[in-house]
Amino acid sequence: MKRVYLETWGCQMNFHDSERVLGLLRQKGYVRVDDPREADVILFNTCSIREKAEHKFLSRLGRTKGLKKRNPSLKIAVLGCIAQQSGEKLKEKAPYVDYVIGPQNINRVGEALELEEGVLTDDNPEIALSDIPAYRESTVSAWVNIMYGCNNFCSYCIVPYTRGRERSRPAENIVREIEELVKNGYKEVTLLGQNVNSYSGNVTFPELLRMVNKIEGLERIRFVTSHPKDLGPELVQAMAECEKVCEHIHLPLQSGSDRILKLMNRKYTMEQYYEKIRMLRDAIPAIAITTDIIAGFPTERDEDHQATIEALKEIEFDGIFAFKYSKRPYTRASKMDGQLPEEVKAERLNQILRLQDEITERKNKLLKNTVQEVLVEGKNDSGQYTGRTRTNKIVNINKADGLTAGQIVKVLITEPHRHSLEGRLT
Ligand code: SF4
Repeated sequence: MKRVYLETWGCQMNFHDSERVLGLLRQKGYVRVDDPREADVILFNTCSIREKAEHKFLSRLGRTKGLKKRNPSLKIAVLGCIAQQSGEKLKEKAPYVDYVIGPQNINRVGEALELEEGVLTDDNPEIALSDIPAYRESTVSAWVNIMYGCNNFCSYCIVPYTRGRERSRPAENIVREIEELVKNGYKEVTLLGQNVNSYSGNVTFPELLRMVNKIEGLERIRFVTSHPKDLGPELVQAMAECEKVCEHIHLPLQSGSDRILKLMNRKYTMEQYYEKIRMLRDAIPAIAITTDIIAGFPTERDEDHQATIEALKEIEFDGIFAFKYSKRPYTRASKMDGQLPEEVKAERLNQILRLQDEITERKNKLLKNTVQEVLVEGKNDSGQYTGRTRTNKIVNINKADGLTAGQIVKVLITEPHRHSLEGRLT
């Protein structure tokens, strides 16, 4: 019985990849341990979306060197986007690393660990066809991959270089996996893809949503991450007509300036983005919309930044994930002139976050004294039952006893906060 320690960084795709790596290794008799000092194998599933994430990981990796000195039979494997980005070079930089395995090769982790060492970063089209068992964190809500990779090559993004070209899973494999999940008590699924709404299996994405919506016993359907260029009337109509599709969409905008959107290669203009927001809100009035914003993209002038501020005021997102622009290897933006000083990026990011905090807080305040449908996920650190609304807002439930994870309850919102809501059963 081998003991494995696994640490994960990054996006939902990466966390789900880790669930599947654990699923594979459990089939081979591995057990998970929470302390790397007790492990026979240490796995790091890494993220390379920003320079800071990479530096954080490399210093974490450096700290395992000592463990290997104490236990020479210890095996260390690096997975995820840094593995794919660095390949053989990572083993040269850190010779105590035994395996470097890219995201397209996670279905081969089990066989790799039987070798003395190895680098698996070659292109692997099979990944979309292999049904890999997952050892899931939650018993209520499950991530389900529907596609891999991305063809968009946004000029700042490393994902197309680390996760390869787009490959979609066959719809019947996805439906079968979800039917199995529902049999095991799952109530909610989140369909995963770097660019989930460009799914091009043997049906279109709106058709896939309709197929999943028919699955008996499933309560909620979510999907991330969408690209505005692939959000059309058919998808909005499917979202409005499929009763299990939750009223929330994450639709990265990145910048409010058409000049910057062009340099980012985002393939839409602000007018086109506004039109999609209008389409969504006309068809689904209660929809919550969240987004991603990059502050300080190369050559960004003050008027470009102001255009982003105006877009946030105009659209009033329910929430945003905003970051300073970060140079990434291989990307076109990293070679652009006009890279901005860190302090300018930081100042613009703070302005964006301060404005959005006001908007989020004001929008949450409007939910006071409303009754929300909440899918109970379990208990939070302070022992309260907690869960999410259909609009993906966290709700902490006061004075509730005997609830079970997976239950759907009605909650009267008594106290809205900036990033969560509080209420009682009704
Ligand atoms: S759509 Fe753009 S930002 Fe998103 S993963 Fe693809 S290249 Fe990256």
